[in-house]
Amino acid sequence: MKSRLTAGLLALLLGGFGAHKFYLNSNVSGVIRLIFFWTWIPAIIGVFDGIVFLTMEDDAFNRKYNPHMYAPIQPQQNNSYSQNNTTYTETKIPEKCPSCKNPNTKKLTVCEWCGGKTI
Ligand SMILES: [Zn+2]
Repeated sequence: MKSRLTAGLLALLLGGFGAHKFYLNSNVSGVIRLIFFWTWIPAIIGVFDGIVFLTMEDDAFNRKYNPHMYAPIQPQQNNSYSQNNTTYTETKIPEKCPSCKNPNTKKLTVCEWCGGKTI
């Protein structure tokens, strides 16, 4: 799981070398920054990237960089709605973590309290 704080600090401190891009698996963007590090432009962009990471909501960061924490919408039968002749249903996510019993208000598939799977 990618950490918002780690990404933000890498962008601020080592953004000129694309460190945060490599960390977030954007290797092409990382290599481009590495090639142009001597122009200082990647370092300047990195400061802005870092501020964005450090000020954005955890939820927004996770939806972008930790999408496995969120259940996909899959075609199924119960609890479903139809669109373009295809039936979809949202995977049932429990309200509480089955392992640590903490509330799962964000409907995550990985518990934000104990890290265990909720489905
Ligand atoms: Zn838990």
